[in-house]
Amino acid sequence: MSLRELYQEVIIDHNKNPRNFCKLDSCSHRAEGLNPLCGDRITLYLNIQQDKIEQLSFEGSGCAISTASASLMTEILKGKSVIEAQTLFTAFHELLTGRETGADHIEMGKLQVLAGVKEYPARVKCATLAWHAFQEALHGNQRPVSTE
Ligand code: ZN
Repeated sequence: MSLRELYQEVIIDHNKNPRNFCKLDSCSHRAEGLNPLCGDRITLYLNIQQDKIEQLSFEGSGCAISTASASLMTEILKGKSVIEAQTLFTAFHELLTGRETGADHIEMGKLQVLAGVKEYPARVKCATLAWHAFQEALHGNQRPVSTE
């Protein structure tokens, strides 16, 4: 199996069986995200205590990339500090867009499986929707965030 196929497998798995796919009853932050180009919708729930992401989950519907990306994000951010999460987002964005931000030394873990999205610029918004919702949740904006 090639690395590319392996990455595909992980995306398919996370789309079929999204992790942390539920409403979080005790959440400190929440936000909705919308990607009108593709029709992806997400509601993200965070429980942040003393700058640490204790718990996070999401609900919504969308394409395989947006669902898998949200699922992977909830896995990787659990237990991280808000600062660590921001650094990961910067590195992830760089991975998807090829833009140099100086964050290329960051350990991406499973987020690496979405690197192929770089070849499909229209899908970058699918892959970053959950992360934009995360930013909105942090900043307490109650309006739904749109990628447009
Ligand atoms: Zn999409």
